[in-house]
Amino acid sequence: MRPVLLGVRSLSRVLELAAPARRCCSGVSGKGVRVRFAPSPTGFLHLGGLRTALYNYLFAKKNGGSFILRLEDTDRSRLVPGAAESIEDMLEWAGITPDESPRRGGPCGPYEQSRRLDLYRAAAQALLDSGAAYRCFCTPQRLELLKKEALRSRQTPRYDNRCRHLTEKQVQEKMSRDSPYVVRFCLSKGAQPFQDLVYGWIQHDVASVEGDPVIIKGDGFPTYHLANVVDDNSMNVSHVLRGAEWLISTAKHLLLYQALGWEPPQYAHLPLLLNKDGTKLSKRQGDIFIQHYAQSGYLSDALLDLITNCGSGFTENQMGRTLDTLIQQYDLEKTSTHSALLDLDKLPEFNRIHLTQWIDGAETREQLVTQLRTLVQDAYGDLVLDKEHIERILLLRKGHVCRLTDLLSPAYSYLWVRPSVPGEQLHSLSREASEIASMAVRLLQDPSNEFTAEMLNGELRSRLHQLKETKFSSAMTLLRLMLSGQEHGPSVAEMMLSLGPQESVIRLQNTLSN
Ligand code: GLU
Repeated sequence: MRPVLLGVRSLSRVLELAAPARRCCSGVSGKGVRVRFAPSPTGFLHLGGLRTALYNYLFAKKNGGSFILRLEDTDRSRLVPGAAESIEDMLEWAGITPDESPRRGGPCGPYEQSRRLDLYRAAAQALLDSGAAYRCFCTPQRLELLKKEALRSRQTPRYDNRCRHLTEKQVQEKMSRDSPYVVRFCLSKGAQPFQDLVYGWIQHDVASVEGDPVIIKGDGFPTYHLANVVDDNSMNVSHVLRGAEWLISTAKHLLLYQALGWEPPQYAHLPLLLNKDGTKLSKRQGDIFIQHYAQSGYLSDALLDLITNCGSGFTENQMGRTLDTLIQQYDLEKTSTHSALLDLDKLPEFNRIHLTQWIDGAETREQLVTQLRTLVQDAYGDLVLDKEHIERILLLRKGHVCRLTDLLSPAYSYLWVRPSVPGEQLHSLSREASEIASMAVRLLQDPSNEFTAEMLNGELRSRLHQLKETKFSSAMTLLRLMLSGQEHGPSVAEMMLSLGPQESVIRLQNTLSN
């Protein structure tokens, strides 16, 4: 059915609805906002996941609550080695560090579902005892047959709930023969509508379209639905903010809460995140993984800003918002139900804006100095690069480069590596090469000169025009070559400013002594 938007969704209402009556986790009071990001480590963190984590983080911080990372790792066959660690690394990289997590621990741990099996088994047992769940002995062959029959008659495959009707005696008989079984939850008919904080009133009579779902698999592990409900309850989760693809599962989750006698959290489903042309963000395009952006020199602030600029949770779109500003301005009520279209082509521009802000901030500039030093050393070998040199370059290039890695391009290599130009090459260009270099050294060492582009341009022009044999433009090419080893590129004044007077003098003198 079409979701109906709520007329009024004030935040006070959102929070007032929270107050859960029962929770199991000791050490956490029943009231207050607690949200969780619950990825399955079956892959690395991608843009969709980061968006869900970010909105949970913003909602928690806006409301003085806690943000939990819980790993839903019960599907053992699909685990990807290293993914669990990497997901937490990437959240930390993005600055949306969880308050409670596998790495950090917390009062409701452990935070990996594979370490909480007793809780799920106890919940499943409670459901079996009350008759809300049953053991299903159907063989994979029978289930496959049901599926084939449904497909042949163009029906959606669903389990026919056959084992729901086994007598106690039949169950005992099968158990005594050690017949393998799973546990299924009885979906009761006529699920109540629920109020999603984004999509409004939703009614989904799940029992009329699905068979009873498995809650404990043959290997004793729970399925997503049971584990998710048990953990949201036992971790005192007050609000579940998750992707709209889970909206359809919520009716099932609410039936589980009802059967277990627990009060459910509030649900807020976030619209899908799509490419700007409306196509699905595919995990096969390697560039949706967060690691890719971290390794390519993007700032996390730029990525978060871009994600929040596709129409959800804010009064208006605005470039350049930092995480603190995002927290201040975030408003769950402003979440739209339209799919969010992500324009990744804008990322370099977002990064340019954030890089400028980082260069302006003293603390963040320090971080950039360290990062850039490492990048340069990785690219050009173990050079000695003093802080002032790197800082000067950052300040001068501010607003002109999108990423720190842009400063590693061949055009900027002169910033990091002293050129070695053979004397003959210089002298073959002009017999006045030494004179030109000395003239420039005198200019750079003259304390009465203010070291600006204007001064350098003016002085170079007037001094080099006095040369007898060399044209002004050739003299400039020669100086560029001495300073950078490149005949073409930025202006001589720009190079001198970037290198600073001391380094420029060293380079000019080096060429003189060659
Ligand atoms: N483990 C689910 C996922 O991978 C969690 C969904 C939810 O937040 O309930 O997205």
